Amino acid sequence: MYDSALLAELAAASTQKASAGKVKRHTNQVWDAPGLTIESWKFNEWDYYSTKVKLPIPSRGLFTKEDQIVVRGYDKFFNVGEVESTKWNSILTETTGPYALTLKENGCKIMIGGYNGKLIVTSKNRTGPQENDYKNHSLAATNWIKARLKEAGKTEQELASELEEKDLTAVGEFCDDNFEEHVLAYPPESAGIYLNGLNRNTREFQTLAPNVVNELGARYGFLRTDFLMVEGVDETKQFLEKCAETGAYNGRDIEGFVVRCKKDGKDFFFKYKFKEPYLMYREWRTATHVILKDPQAAWKSKMHKEATNEFLKFARPYLKSHPELAEKIQKEGKGIIELREKFLEYSNLDPEQLLQLQINEKGTDKYVLIPVATIGCGKTTVALTLASLYGWGHVQNDDVSSKSGKFRTFSNRISQAFSEHDVVIVDRNNHQFRERQQLFEAMDLMADANGYDMHYIGLDFLPNGPAQKEWEVTLSRVMNRGDNHQTIRNMDRPAVEAIMKGFRGRYQPITVAKEPDSNFELVIDVNCARGSKDNVTAVVSALNDAYDMDLETKPEELNAAFSAALEHKAKIPVGTQPAQKRATWSFFCIRVDSKEMMQLLASNLQGNPFWQELQVSKGMSLKQEFHVTLAHKASEKTQFKALKTKYHKLLTGSKENGFVDLNVEEPVIVESICWNTRIMAAAVSLPGEHCSSNFHPHITVGMAKGVPPKEANAMMNNYDNRVEIKPVRLTGRLCAFR
Ligand code: GDP
Ligand code: MG
Repeated sequence: MYDSALLAELAAASTQKASAGKVKRHTNQVWDAPGLTIESWKFNEWDYYSTKVKLPIPSRGLFTKEDQIVVRGYDKFFNVGEVESTKWNSILTETTGPYALTLKENGCKIMIGGYNGKLIVTSKNRTGPQENDYKNHSLAATNWIKARLKEAGKTEQELASELEEKDLTAVGEFCDDNFEEHVLAYPPESAGIYLNGLNRNTREFQTLAPNVVNELGARYGFLRTDFLMVEGVDETKQFLEKCAETGAYNGRDIEGFVVRCKKDGKDFFFKYKFKEPYLMYREWRTATHVILKDPQAAWKSKMHKEATNEFLKFARPYLKSHPELAEKIQKEGKGIIELREKFLEYSNLDPEQLLQLQINEKGTDKYVLIPVATIGCGKTTVALTLASLYGWGHVQNDDVSSKSGKFRTFSNRISQAFSEHDVVIVDRNNHQFRERQQLFEAMDLMADANGYDMHYIGLDFLPNGPAQKEWEVTLSRVMNRGDNHQTIRNMDRPAVEAIMKGFRGRYQPITVAKEPDSNFELVIDVNCARGSKDNVTAVVSALNDAYDMDLETKPEELNAAFSAALEHKAKIPVGTQPAQKRATWSFFCIRVDSKEMMQLLASNLQGNPFWQELQVSKGMSLKQEFHVTLAHKASEKTQFKALKTKYHKLLTGSKENGFVDLNVEEPVIVESICWNTRIMAAAVSLPGEHCSSNFHPHITVGMAKGVPPKEANAMMNNYDNRVEIKPVRLTGRLCAFR
């Protein structure tokens, strides 16, 4: 469909600020059609939730050619309860049937359209060859379609023309464990594209009925998406809730349903995903049966360990003292819900809070990039570039000027970096097994203490060992670097060479077959002879590949970050005796228990899009540690000094860097939560002895990567959104930080 007004609005939106509904435009090369390009339009995920931003077209995935819509995804649809329009009371009152319930297959979305007789197969936002092309969804899907069309005795052109004539986009879910594993299993016999919709290529969302979809799908060899029709909305709700209890439909494990119905006479979708608390309830059900069969049996739970343990602590004695209930469950399979409700009542926790126990149990993924190199390999240059592009942590051993306790200081700084970043680069040569061992041990401890899931990633700067070419490259770089280094300075060439040779002589290559290098989950080839900019790209694509990180690099941003890294001036220690110096105190704060804080946030922010982004998006960072700042050295000098004087003794007695507990309890009352598009913080009041010099005392909760935490201050003064909560009193502890 031609729609020049829409295209004009999209073009205008592509120049907007991110906060005002920016759309990203991308020109794609169409597969097998040299010279044919097609534009894709991608909105920021959070804008679909925004009540302020009105998107020109709320479709997820849109491709156009000149003024024509060629491929159109579904309008973004939400889970039950996720937004106002999908709360059950709106669904029950505002939608009309019949309700078509399609099974939610679990793969990646594929869209298919036709243009001038040419078949266009896309992923959600891309088609054609891509940069960082390690896993190309549209290519894999294209190949599957080609093979299937052949089997069905059809041609690509027939499918393309049919879609083009009817002006439709076919939408499907590509599920294939061989290509990419999701949660549910798709072995070869059930792998392929499950066709689930035919959308008209119009601005207004219009989609055809499931039987029409399946008819077209069958003719062209697509897999069929099962559906069932339910007349009324009450029946629909009952049906979904019943399926959720088992997580299965027709004996098959599924992820949930997509429900298609009408609202105000227009097509309206919502989804119903089987998830918590049903998964937890299912675990309790199974656990109940296990302990009824054998009261001594231990329940080895993975998914909901803490919550199920709590449940069993209650259920074991309760079932013993209520044999009639135990019998009903065992003989009739009834009474489980009654038991569950008794437990919830007894524990005085909502399902949300019980689930939160689990979230805290589960580790946060942390990625450590560990160079293995010698001097001049470009460790710092690569690290600076990456840190600047993605806001990662970068800790330089060469910045640690103390001689005694050097590793302790280094590891304290690493630990601090983990509290602020999910990816940290540990910039040191790590050229010997002993050094690597020392790092792994220290970081395993940090992981245990903080509940991190550590991913150790080696950066192999010398994959061919310290050969002649590498020697020449590094020597010439170090000579050119001259005095721009923390420790290698004011030295003549022989002295520099001697140090470098020392490292070269001691160098032990990465040997993943044995300890300690067997701890590396991934080793990336960043041969120093190749040049640091290419090595940055190598790191990015390896991480995207191995961990689906979705890191994007625009050439101009990479160039700018790399030039800045080359220009970087090392922090040269000043003064005559920098060696023993500890970091100076930088601020005082009241720290609150992170588990309590997480529970509070989770129970008050259910369904909040910013909060959801914080949990799932790689572009966002949720704080690991929560505090109310009382006074900063730089900005609140008087109050800072007063605190320093008051706690002088404790402060001078402490040796560690980082947070130092001053052994004083302070109440913190959390009153509301505020956010804008960049940062979220909780507004608090401090009824105790210590007060904050901030105009709006707050606890920073999380932010988009790259946004400095101190921006919370300005945001609190001028927030976009705020939720009032029932005030919660937490017991905090007075701390100083250095
Ligand atoms: P490190 O000792 O491994 O941390 O190495 P550096 O990152 O400090 O690099 C040594 C010197 O070489 C520095 O002066 C860098 O600016 C420079 N350098 C690093 N990578 C490159 C590169 O790819 N090209 C050029 N021309 N210089 C580089
Ligand atoms: Mg360096």
